[in-house]
Amino acid sequence: MNPHVAGLTNAEIVQGQGEYLLPAMLHMYAEPLALVEGDGVRVRDADGNEYLDLFSGILTTSLGHCHPRIIARVTDQMSRLGHVSTLYANAPQVEAARRLSEIAPGRLKRTFFTNSGSEAIDTALMMAAVHTGRSEIVALRMAYHGRSLLASNVTAHAAWRPLATQVAGIHHALLPYPYRCPIKQPCDDSCAEFYARDVEQVIRTATNGRPAAFIAETIQGVTGYVVPPRGYFPRVAEIIRGAGGLLIIDEVQAGFGRTGGKWFGIEHYGVEPDIMVMAKGIAGGFPVGATITTDEVAASWTGKTISTFGGNPVCMAAMCATLEVMVEEDVPSRAEERGRQLREGLLALQARHPWIGEIRGMGLMQAMEIVGDPVGKEPDPTRAKKLLEATREEGVLLGQGGTHGHVIRVGPSLLVTEGEIAEGLEKLGRACGTADA
Ligand code: PMP
Repeated sequence: MNPHVAGLTNAEIVQGQGEYLLPAMLHMYAEPLALVEGDGVRVRDADGNEYLDLFSGILTTSLGHCHPRIIARVTDQMSRLGHVSTLYANAPQVEAARRLSEIAPGRLKRTFFTNSGSEAIDTALMMAAVHTGRSEIVALRMAYHGRSLLASNVTAHAAWRPLATQVAGIHHALLPYPYRCPIKQPCDDSCAEFYARDVEQVIRTATNGRPAAFIAETIQGVTGYVVPPRGYFPRVAEIIRGAGGLLIIDEVQAGFGRTGGKWFGIEHYGVEPDIMVMAKGIAGGFPVGATITTDEVAASWTGKTISTFGGNPVCMAAMCATLEVMVEEDVPSRAEERGRQLREGLLALQARHPWIGEIRGMGLMQAMEIVGDPVGKEPDPTRAKKLLEATREEGVLLGQGGTHGHVIRVGPSLLVTEGEIAEGLEKLGRACGTADA
């Protein structure tokens, strides 16, 4: 046990947080949980309770906790050179960018590294504005793109937009949300055109007709793994490019094999973005944000730019080890297989509990939308909260999301085993029984 945390109880750590940290910081549970140790998909709290972590730090510890290859590579780098800043070249940064370009779709090749998803989103938006000489951005309602001033303004959830200050030139189009599609139930690919036309209309009516970019997550993460119909992104790509703008795709949650079968979510749609944004699982839990683009777009950024910690050699070493293991383990195939098992288990739970309105997602990114009844589809955040607390009691960590906090999200390590998924489903099943009452 680490001597710095030994002796502190869960309650003492939480009390310290209450005293010294910003009260706006969101806690997952009614009684906050302080985690102190992890190994693979297991984590322990300060009181010694063990949990099966099926949310992996919001899809971030993509190879599980404390992967030995990441520890070895980081420790080695730490003992040689800890930091230099982007003013100097460093080998791990070059290796990380090369590895990324090898798996990124199409002509995406040149990367700028930052420390978080929000910064990587800001970089992407700035890049599009610099390349096109335009400033207006079209995003989607219910999108989540980060917490900086600009990223929180392209985000479209009232709760995550605390600032009264509005950034001009940002417009939101309809989110293709199949479970709540007003056109047709069940929604199918024929609805894609309707949603794509909304983007076209926003460009024609709410902008000056010359947008810099359209930005979207491939699968909406915070909203609860909403998957747009297959025909949506190809049509939206045509529309934004037809208007002279760039297509920016946010793969912060969906990237790195998570969706199963492909490295990036957008590849399922057969579309090549002009700019792609990544963070979270990119470096196995180390703070790395990345914005990748083509030679052409990159060349138009002629002004100065710097990120003091971006490309930090230790974080880059973590990213190199993460990508190396991901390729060796073929995580897209693993996520496809384990995702199928997870989805089948969740569908079996839905058959037993009518308040589970929908099971949706791709690969190891699956969600349950909790509703009052399957016909009215009224969001039921109270039961979702009850279920989440019950899963904690069963020793499983899951995520919450959705516009009303009524969606339960599952997103374990990409190396999760068949046995661990089965164990998680069994415990979740018992928690659903508790939430029935
Ligand atoms: N984009 C998406 C899709 C996200 O889910 C998030 C974080 N939840 C971000 C961007 C912002 O990332 P960060 O919290 O690292 O700034």
